[in-house]
Amino acid sequence: MRCSLNAENTFDLVVIGGGIAGLASAINAASEGLSVCVLEGGIEFGGQTSTIKQIRNLVGYPEGISGRELIRLTLAQARGFGVKLCAPYRVQKIRRGSLSELYVDTSHGKSFTTRAILITAGVRYRRLGVDEVSSFMGHGVTYGELPDNIVGERVAVIGGGNSAGQAVVALAQKSECNIDLLVRGALSDKQMSQYLIDVIRKNAHGNIDVHEQVEVIGADGFLKLEHITLRSLKTQHLTRMPLDRLLISIGSEPHIEWAADQVVVDEKGFIKTGSRVASESVWINTQRKPLPFETTPGIFAAGDIESESVKRVASSIGAATGAIASILRFLGRR
Ligand SMILES: Cc1cc2nc3c(=O)[nH]c(=O)nc-3n(C[C@H](O)[C@H](O)[C@H](O)COP(=O)(O)OP(=O)(O)OC[C@H]3O[C@@H](n4cnc5c(N)ncnc54)[C@H](O)[C@@H]3O)c2cc1C
Repeated sequence: MRCSLNAENTFDLVVIGGGIAGLASAINAASEGLSVCVLEGGIEFGGQTSTIKQIRNLVGYPEGISGRELIRLTLAQARGFGVKLCAPYRVQKIRRGSLSELYVDTSHGKSFTTRAILITAGVRYRRLGVDEVSSFMGHGVTYGELPDNIVGERVAVIGGGNSAGQAVVALAQKSECNIDLLVRGALSDKQMSQYLIDVIRKNAHGNIDVHEQVEVIGADGFLKLEHITLRSLKTQHLTRMPLDRLLISIGSEPHIEWAADQVVVDEKGFIKTGSRVASESVWINTQRKPLPFETTPGIFAAGDIESESVKRVASSIGAATGAIASILRFLGRR
């Protein structure tokens, strides 16, 4: 949905990123009477949540809910509260004015003016970094999610986290595939939710093979991917595995370069907030302490982009709600 940039571009709060954290925070802010604009860099709202086939760990949905449906309902709720939804508007810079105002510059060359910014820019897929595998991108190699129409193929999924687990479970249920789950460590390394591990171990359809302590070091094929080469991290033994598709789901990382001069980040590039930034130089000469979710004065972060956050839908919604409580205090509304 495009917003009219000729109209007033000044808001109490600008939210950067239209995933579940951004949308949930905007609903909370608008329900408290703030004028809010959400800027989403992609064509569609929803972020990672839109890619989840079935969310089984969200309260209120005993049978689970698809990520797309959750986003559809959330967008309807945001519109109902009068949230301004703008996509695609990729934010390129945040600037501070001479008084307390902040400016948000977008890829359209248009700027928004606000007193508070909430960054909910999430994360992007981490790359495998094996050139032979990269050369088959779009020809059997995929990041993130697989198309729905896969039937009867041999598919390998790399990753030990929830996104890899979700993909394996969805494939095993729906498509008569043979699935090889490739994990660098052990499946029980606590990266994947236990309910997913249980489904994979139970292997009800008998079509999942779990390979632990392995890494992919090569790939080959004619015009499309046909084999990958696996190395055992225990024995160094090499195995050439035939397959039709490889899904890489090895986690994700933040990309916050565009705001680097306005936020405090940890060693992995996630935004630090609250008491964890209190000793930073930006706060030393400030007359108050940082509020929860605040990184530098007036700039807040929540969801997956926030340092040490729990990377889940429900926790992103919860953090977004907490961030709005701080923003209301910052704006003197509480
Ligand atoms: C395949 C998969 C399965 C998952 N399964 C589950 C599950 O079953 N249960 C669960 O609880 N969690 C699950 N998760 C995790 C969950 O989806 C995330 O924790 C949650 O969606 C994070 O939301 P977010 O809003 O913080 O970030 P994101 O969803 O990453 O959204 C960030 C948004 O910001 C936008 N953006 C980035 N930079 C800019 C910019 N410069 N300007 C404007 N916009 C920008 C992006 O385009 C994106 O839309 C899963 C994740 C994946 C990938």
